Amino acid sequence: MTNNHTLGRNHWLREFYSLLEEKTTMQQYKPLTRDSISFMPSGTKLKFGSQIVEFVRKSTIQHNGGGSESVIEYIDVDGKLARIEETLFIQLATEHLDAERCAGCNALRTPEDCIPRVISSWCFVRAVKFCKDKECAKRFFLMHPERKPMTGNWKVS
Ligand SMILES: [Zn+2]
Repeated sequence: MTNNHTLGRNHWLREFYSLLEEKTTMQQYKPLTRDSISFMPSGTKLKFGSQIVEFVRKSTIQHNGGGSESVIEYIDVDGKLARIEETLFIQLATEHLDAERCAGCNALRTPEDCIPRVISSWCFVRAVKFCKDKECAKRFFLMHPERKPMTGNWKVS
């Protein structure tokens, strides 16, 4: 067996095992960080909450009292320029446009890794997602007994 042949075979095995791993361990998307947003080009599309917005820039607001705060400017779904505190933006936005946020643990997941549920309380009916590979849905409904999972075909806008 030549050296090249061995290398090729090892490479193939590694690919094979990484495919297997991908199947068994589900991935979580990484959230945004202050660093990643500092180098983000203007015009980058981001998922912010459940909407797709366009990143404009990071800027600093000087307060009259002397302090300053970092804010993110973005174009919202209505095409208007909006501005929000950087800390809040980082918690709610992601570069992965297909990401869904688990209503239980707040992790960013791919749509395939989520189970959809419709929850209701006295004032709202809402469609939410939970991690498929963890017991997030079960834990959520234990912690919020007033929010009942609904069955049947509910249209949620
Ligand atoms: Zn979760």
